[in-house]
Amino acid sequence: MSKIIAVNAGSSSLKFKLYDMPSETLICSGMADRIGQVKGTFTLSIGQEKLSIDIPIPNHQSGVSLLLKYLIEKKVILSFQEIKGVGHRVVQGGKYFFKSVIITDKVIEKIKEFIPLAPLHNGPNLSGIEAFKTILPNVKNVAVFDTAFHQTMEPQDYLFPIPYELYEKYDLRRYGFHGTSHKYLMEQVHKHLNTIKNPRIITLHLGSGASLAAIKNGKVVATSMGLTPLGGIMMGTRTGDIDPSVLHFAALKTGQSHEAIYEMFNKKSGFLGMSQLSSDSRDLEAAHLQGNKQVQLTNQLFVRRIADFIGQYTIRLGGVDVIVFSAGIGENSGFYRHLIIEEIKDALSMIEDEKLNKSIRGKVAVITTPQSRVIGMVIPTNEELMIVKDTYEIIQ
Ligand code: AMP
Repeated sequence: MSKIIAVNAGSSSLKFKLYDMPSETLICSGMADRIGQVKGTFTLSIGQEKLSIDIPIPNHQSGVSLLLKYLIEKKVILSFQEIKGVGHRVVQGGKYFFKSVIITDKVIEKIKEFIPLAPLHNGPNLSGIEAFKTILPNVKNVAVFDTAFHQTMEPQDYLFPIPYELYEKYDLRRYGFHGTSHKYLMEQVHKHLNTIKNPRIITLHLGSGASLAAIKNGKVVATSMGLTPLGGIMMGTRTGDIDPSVLHFAALKTGQSHEAIYEMFNKKSGFLGMSQLSSDSRDLEAAHLQGNKQVQLTNQLFVRRIADFIGQYTIRLGGVDVIVFSAGIGENSGFYRHLIIEEIKDALSMIEDEKLNKSIRGKVAVITTPQSRVIGMVIPTNEELMIVKDTYEIIQ
């Protein structure tokens, strides 16, 4: 029996889940939140027991110290030696990492090198790695990359039509993200629908960040996010794909710098910018049903973008057998799933089981009727389980 921690370190938070392997049993989960702010919060859930402590957490290292302190105090572990490995989510692995790897000094150098390609993510991911390396120096750390599963794309799918030297010199290309989630969803489809041989799958990871992947023979052929997680479909606060000229003209017309507009595209666009109300789909669902016209337009735009990608990916795959809905919106919102299926059902002969779809929340289910040509499925994603599985395998 080995205890493995999955870690997702963000700029001001460090989320963790502790698993027992190989049984894949979740032992506890929680997070150190508001790291670096005056007031921090540390939460830990062990089965039904929930702990929440308000305490300043100056940096990631103090977050990790708190985690280990409470694991011992709550007798989740008796000594640190029980922890056999730590798996870290790393967002950008560039073109070098096509699978998870043990973290060595060389790997750290590479992750550092990719900070400019994922400034919001790779820096904090590294802080999480450094914290565990300092506090548990004898425990192996593994990097699990968001980009790795997408490395099977062909050049005509990952290249942008810009001067080729920009790719050669600076690696400017599509990488795709949420790869760990898309891979998990594919594996679950293979497990639950094992009568379909080599299903052609389109996975919809619809959270505050959102992306699609087209998967055939177990490999990604196309994915919607690009060089950074800003590309693809519209998201909570991000634009997704837009004409690059909008950056130029928005800067020209508003007098703001390119950097400010770029930040606007990342943090003030998408649901938030369009609806002028909220980045949270729950608020938009409620406002839509209350007849808010601007919100209805926002939702129509969101759904149209997704449908356009599904159309494109159906061609790329030579047809589609299964469409998977996952992440915060996809797992929980029958309302959004219904809007999406309405938009694609005629082209794909997809027949929703409306009553069932409405009732499904956070569990695996087929939400189309047996007559539907394309199967619609809800699958809750589990990136942490993928991280600990990879970590367990690699440290053996
Ligand atoms: P994620 O990034 O996967 O955590 O997803 C965040 C998004 O999912 C937000 O837009 C939330 O509004 C939405 N979401 C999370 N939980 C629910 C829920 N129970 N019902 C509907 N939407 C939800």
